[in-house]
Amino acid sequence: MRPRFACLKRSVFRVDERLVTSQADLEDLLAELPAVPYIADQGSQMRWRHIGPRIEGLLGVPAEELVADPELWAAHAHPDDRHRVQWRHHMTLFCDSEPPAVEYRMISRDGRLVWLADRAVLGEASDGSKVWKGVLHDITDRKAVEHDLERTAARQGAIAQLAEGALVGSGADALLQAAVSLAAKIDGVEQSFVWERQEGGGPLMLRAGLRVEGGISDWRLLSAGPGTHVASVGAGEPLVVADWDRETRLVMPDALKGLGIRSSLAVAIEGDGDSHFGVLDVHSTSPGRFDAEDTHFLSTAAGILAGAQRRHGADEELRQQVLHDPLTGLPNRGLFEESVAAALASGFASGTSVAVLFLDIDRFKLINDSLGHHAGDDLLSAIAPRLRRQLRPGDSVARFGGDEFGVLAHEVGGDEDAVRIAERIAASFEAPFVLEGVEHFITVSVGLASAAPGPVADDDAVSLIRNADAAMYRAKDQGRARIEVFDHAMKTRAIERLAVERELRLAIDREELILHYQPIIALPGGSITGVEALVRWRHPQRGLLQPGEFIPVAEESGLIEPIGRWVQEQACLQVLAWQQLRPDARPLDVSVNLSARQVARPDVAQTVADVLVRTGLDPGHLCLEITETVLMEDSGVAETAIGALHALGVRIALDDFGTGYSSLAYLHRFPFDSLKIDRSFIEGLGTEPEAEAIVAAIVGMARALSLDVVGEGVETTEQLAELNGLGCDFAQGYLFARPLPPEEITGLLAAADEAAAYVPERPAIVPVMAPPSSNTV
Ligand code: C2E
Ligand code: CA
Ligand code: CA
Repeated sequence: MRPRFACLKRSVFRVDERLVTSQADLEDLLAELPAVPYIADQGSQMRWRHIGPRIEGLLGVPAEELVADPELWAAHAHPDDRHRVQWRHHMTLFCDSEPPAVEYRMISRDGRLVWLADRAVLGEASDGSKVWKGVLHDITDRKAVEHDLERTAARQGAIAQLAEGALVGSGADALLQAAVSLAAKIDGVEQSFVWERQEGGGPLMLRAGLRVEGGISDWRLLSAGPGTHVASVGAGEPLVVADWDRETRLVMPDALKGLGIRSSLAVAIEGDGDSHFGVLDVHSTSPGRFDAEDTHFLSTAAGILAGAQRRHGADEELRQQVLHDPLTGLPNRGLFEESVAAALASGFASGTSVAVLFLDIDRFKLINDSLGHHAGDDLLSAIAPRLRRQLRPGDSVARFGGDEFGVLAHEVGGDEDAVRIAERIAASFEAPFVLEGVEHFITVSVGLASAAPGPVADDDAVSLIRNADAAMYRAKDQGRARIEVFDHAMKTRAIERLAVERELRLAIDREELILHYQPIIALPGGSITGVEALVRWRHPQRGLLQPGEFIPVAEESGLIEPIGRWVQEQACLQVLAWQQLRPDARPLDVSVNLSARQVARPDVAQTVADVLVRTGLDPGHLCLEITETVLMEDSGVAETAIGALHALGVRIALDDFGTGYSSLAYLHRFPFDSLKIDRSFIEGLGTEPEAEAIVAAIVGMARALSLDVVGEGVETTEQLAELNGLGCDFAQGYLFARPLPPEEITGLLAAADEAAAYVPERPAIVPVMAPPSSNTV
């Protein structure tokens, strides 16, 4: 028996041994699997019947412990994911189908984050009860990759957004604030700030930052003193504080204390040259939060800020240059307009008036011409600080160009107050200016315009300055060195002027402008050698307007340029037509007036050249009439322009000669061909001996300079006889003909040609009085 029993026992034992071996194999096998199989009871808690031993490797918790304690699983779940851990419970309540895998985070015993994918099906246990049969997969690595991808995408998005803001030129503050907001959107960042370095050292000032909840009211006043971590950031070296609890070298700025910050990353925002603008930093309440990629991200953001900051600086510099007069350093007209607009707006708010003074130096031209441009510049440079000294805080002075200055006085009580300010400013010119060692006494004409508080429209600043300008012109007219206040009558005139300007703009296109021509007669023979083109405006309501009624407006508004071009072209075409009509006669000349503004344009010669090419007129038959005022504006510009015109082969006449002052001084400097003696001298011929003496002197001088002389405004036969006697070359005036429409000139030319053919010894058209009606059309 015994051997048999022993044998049986041995075989049972062997069977047993086999069983034990296969159990161990299975467990080995399971332990090798990259997954943790489990069987768990149905229910909201995790009652494990079995869970693979590998779970210990993942969570640091032995399988037996989990089986023994049903609450342990939930305790190790990430607080935010606990509800997901209990998914099975909800699944069995709400759905029968195979539930999808659920992913959630667990915290291992040593504090690591472990991502698990949990997939299970509801089945039956051997005892017939319902159980979950499932597998847990460790997906921590996959999640880390996904997370990195998401972070990278988010960072790239943030960088793109920031770069866009920098490109569209957002304001500096807005851009810095955008940078901190974007940085704070990056996963794990709770706070972000920009600190600005102060010039000449001192603590870094907080320029932008996420608002600290429930606390600091004005975070912009916060600073980070020396020794703080941001103060230690050097250019190009990011600074990482992995854990503030263990940080010994660096100090956290007071401003950041109390925010629960554990780790920080800071990078420099480069500035101009070696200096850097400041620091951009981000902070997390978790330790060790920032890695190389975060550093890269933050450095890129700081790079964008640095670029924008530099450009902003350059923009500011450019703005300064564009808005200031280089000679005096004063604001220019553009900036002055801005200041006036701002003063009007704040005057409306505070209920005070705003006054603008328009200053023009009297006889500045004289200084420039007699002492040279440098002396003129010195004078302007010396005027600027004198004006500045008269200003009250908040007032401003600007140079408009040339010898014109503007003063803005804000918070003015009323007109009297404004006049007092103007008087004080005018008085500041009483002391002499020393130019090249010599004292010069300078006076100034001042126009004053003020605006009472009221709603402000867009162009109010411009009109206020324009009104002051108009008042200044009045001061000049009234004899200079005085103050004129813009008043109601001037206002009406200004408004009328604006209306004229508006209509004149349209007049060219509507073909409302026409040319009349006045014959120029050769003396003593009396033949018509040329005509002067004189513009008229056939106004739809006001009838035929003489140039005096619209040329000044055209000059002021710049409309004289298109009008002038039209006149030149029209006159050339017309005189060509007359030349072709009379192939046997001496080709007729045409004179065209050029205003100061036209001559001042750098392209004046080009414009005339274009007209000659387009029309095909021989330049020798075109005469350009220029008045002395042109020469007085700025002789440098006029000299160049007149030289260029002369080079075209056109003739140049000095018009209205004798009305300007020191005119003789200009004559030899310019290549004039002829000189037109002003009507005011011709008027006195035959009655006033001085007039005769002056005209005789002018004719004599013109001879010396080999210039032709034209007597203008000849109305009587006495005047004609005097001019003939003095040896004047040409005459023009009502005695011969008024300015006439072209068809009447055609008739006149035909009559003159006929008369000359039959009675060659007689002056052709002397004296032919044009019918009075022709000038009053
Ligand atoms: P201006 O160049 O001195 O032209 C001569 C002016 O004297 C003309 O006046 C003419 O009608 C007038 N006149 C001619 N003979 C007599 C006379 O015997 N007695 C009197 N009392 N006056 C006479 P108008 O046509 O009214 O032109 C006035 C000014 O307007 C011109 O003076 C000229 O400076 C300017 N102007 C006329 N047309 C143009 C133009 O196309 N362009 C420019 N820039 N200015 C022009
Ligand atoms: Ca003229
Ligand atoms: Ca004239």
